[in-house]
Amino acid sequence: MNNLAFKTIKELKALVDSGAISHQELLKFFTDNAKKHEDLGAYLEIFDEPSITKECTFSGTLAGIPGLIKDNIAQKNRKMTCASKILETFVTNYDATAIARLKQEGAALLGRANMDEFAMGSSGETSAFFKTKNPWNKACVPGGSSSGSAAAVAAGIVPWALGSDTGGSVRQPAAMCGIVGLKPTYGHVSRFGLTAYGSSLDQIGVLTRCVYDNALVFSVIAGKDAKDASSLSVQQQDYTKNLTGKLKQNLKIGVVQEALDGQGLDHEIKKSVEQAIKELEKLGATIVPISMKTLQYGAAAYFIISRAEAASNLARFDGVRYGIRDKERDLNEMYKNTRHDGFGSEVKARILVGNYVLSVGHAGEFYDNAKRVRRAIRKEFNDAFETVDLLIMPSHSVPAFKVGTYDNDKLAMDLQDYFTAPMNLAGVPSLSIPVGFTHDKKPIGMQIIGAHLAEELIYQTAYAYEQVTSWHTMHPEL
Ligand code: GLN
Repeated sequence: MNNLAFKTIKELKALVDSGAISHQELLKFFTDNAKKHEDLGAYLEIFDEPSITKECTFSGTLAGIPGLIKDNIAQKNRKMTCASKILETFVTNYDATAIARLKQEGAALLGRANMDEFAMGSSGETSAFFKTKNPWNKACVPGGSSSGSAAAVAAGIVPWALGSDTGGSVRQPAAMCGIVGLKPTYGHVSRFGLTAYGSSLDQIGVLTRCVYDNALVFSVIAGKDAKDASSLSVQQQDYTKNLTGKLKQNLKIGVVQEALDGQGLDHEIKKSVEQAIKELEKLGATIVPISMKTLQYGAAAYFIISRAEAASNLARFDGVRYGIRDKERDLNEMYKNTRHDGFGSEVKARILVGNYVLSVGHAGEFYDNAKRVRRAIRKEFNDAFETVDLLIMPSHSVPAFKVGTYDNDKLAMDLQDYFTAPMNLAGVPSLSIPVGFTHDKKPIGMQIIGAHLAEELIYQTAYAYEQVTSWHTMHPEL
């Protein structure tokens, strides 16, 4: 049974359906296996088997299929810490809509994935509890902020996981861990029950080892939700039905020139992305160069807008309603002490920057300008999708790096979002898929980006690519 770890959802379902393995055996295998890989730091908690069984109906699309949930998504009667001390003791009393839908389809929710504190980071290093390691190279980071979700899927701890993506936090760790990660169209997945970081950017996303599995889980969680006012009026549908292995007729893909020709892109990543583009061309796609002049401003605009929204969103953590509370009896002192002790330094820095860029006298220079840049970015995407069906960019500029590499270079760390944040600003969907390895066996990812609500076309294209390549079948030796 020890070969179950790297089976896809589709394969596990077939094993259960044929009677080769029972739901209970499956669950036991994965909870045991998770414990074997505790050293990766991918999860904050694996629930005990009886409580998982109690929560699970074992019937539906994901009947008994184990998955891990980033710890900023509410699972009723479980802790939700956002990997922060301030919420260390917090237990939520409701399910996020995505979680309710997963439960309705019988998914077995195994536990809570480690992450960067409040989803702020690109490396899994800002968790208040412990860092997550990259299963391909334990001296390196897995990317972030959905670090635990990505590492767990890559390591075979679970076949799927949920993450959240505000500026790249699903796609960048997916790329660094050699797996598939979707950042949906803004509003396509309900944010109800997702702890807000940058509300106009946040989306729950799916991490899996192959495209089919990703489309399957996405089909379960996507679609209109009355509990989220920003959720789009889209019916739930089956995103696996168009996975034929063929590309759409006359598919036109734009390759963002500034992304491939710009400085700072690792040459092995560039080579792998170019190779993947050739594969798509061989499959019948027409490849055209596209210029996106705003690309270079994406990370900066994201920096300002995300901090501004974070400063407002995190104001609710004051010791009154959630998590830890300082014993000081003076109210203002209690707020101050709770936040001082509860938040880590990355979170504090972002709250400071956020309040600064929104403050009288500075908002015009920073926040208002960032919003203008955002509009320009959105327009450039809209214009691009007038002429092409999809766009291609790398998912990351550098392969997984050693823990501590950017401790003294925050700017370099913030530039990790260079290729991913523009899609959050524009609200368009993007899928990162594995397209190769560096000479020292670090995974490489590439994004397939679509217009609003083009998830189906993205999946179809990615699936066709996957059928003629084998990157998704490789896994780390653990
Ligand atoms: N790396 C980005 C940041 O640190 C992205 C975070 C995210 O998408 N949650 O803000």
